[in-house]
Amino acid sequence: MILPPDEGWTTRFAPSPTGFLHLGHLASALVAFRLARDSGGRFLLRLEDIDATRCRAEYATAAIEDLDWLGIVSAREVRRQSAHFDDYRAVLDRLRGEELVYPCFCTRAAIAREVAQSGAAPHAPDGALVYPGTCRGLSMSERAERIAAGVEHAWRLDMRAATARTGTLVYHTLEGGTVRCDPVAFGDVVLARREVPASYHLCVTHDDALQGVSLVTRGEDLRAVTDIHRVLQALMGWAAPVYHHHPLLREADGRRLAKRDGAQALRALWAAGWSAEALMARADLLAAQGSAA
Ligand code: GLU
Repeated sequence: MILPPDEGWTTRFAPSPTGFLHLGHLASALVAFRLARDSGGRFLLRLEDIDATRCRAEYATAAIEDLDWLGIVSAREVRRQSAHFDDYRAVLDRLRGEELVYPCFCTRAAIAREVAQSGAAPHAPDGALVYPGTCRGLSMSERAERIAAGVEHAWRLDMRAATARTGTLVYHTLEGGTVRCDPVAFGDVVLARREVPASYHLCVTHDDALQGVSLVTRGEDLRAVTDIHRVLQALMGWAAPVYHHHPLLREADGRRLAKRDGAQALRALWAAGWSAEALMARADLLAAQGSAA
């Protein structure tokens, strides 16, 4: 187990407000909240709401309200990513200046076609299709022409160039392990999308650094992408937090508890008469069963 710094752990819970919080979120928030509290550190709440098509203000407000009711309160003002696009643009500008990102004009359909034609469909460790690199080879003038013509584009990280710069990367886990990263397996990930001028990878690493998060706790579904996050941290000169990926809560049939399955919202349970203590005990029990499974 890694010991906390003198000031205790700075942790965060960073949900995307795409639905009401459920027991899985509560279990995750409790991990972060207790590690901060028990080490004399601070717990932060951050709303990862850059995707206006999926996130709703109503869910953001509800998340803060639910956590307040449970006594899981942010030690600083809640950060809403949608209010900070300038910060994320500045990161992208810097990477662009260092020629580590390139514009990608491919539509999803074009990428699917290209992959089908090549006969190989490599998947990244997070299950996403690896981008075949089509736009990486465009000349500077071709890029400039298309941008000037208003062709919609995303910005991708040139992963080989980036990792040539960073060298081999590792991260440390709370349990005391050292994990060697393999970011190249993800290919050239998107750092700014066509519809949203930022991406999860860019915003999460920027904000963890800005907010001084020293211990990132989150579900094990995000373990793999930590390799990408380490690259961005190394390129930007940001300190690497310690990581703790916890198991996800599962339904009795073993399926992951998720918003889309109508997992019971905390506020529905609250309205049905559950006390805050009982809800936390329920989340703890499910978490304990989940890790035992
Ligand atoms: N916003 C992400 C989610 O709701 C979590 C981000 C993180 O903890 O790194 O899945």
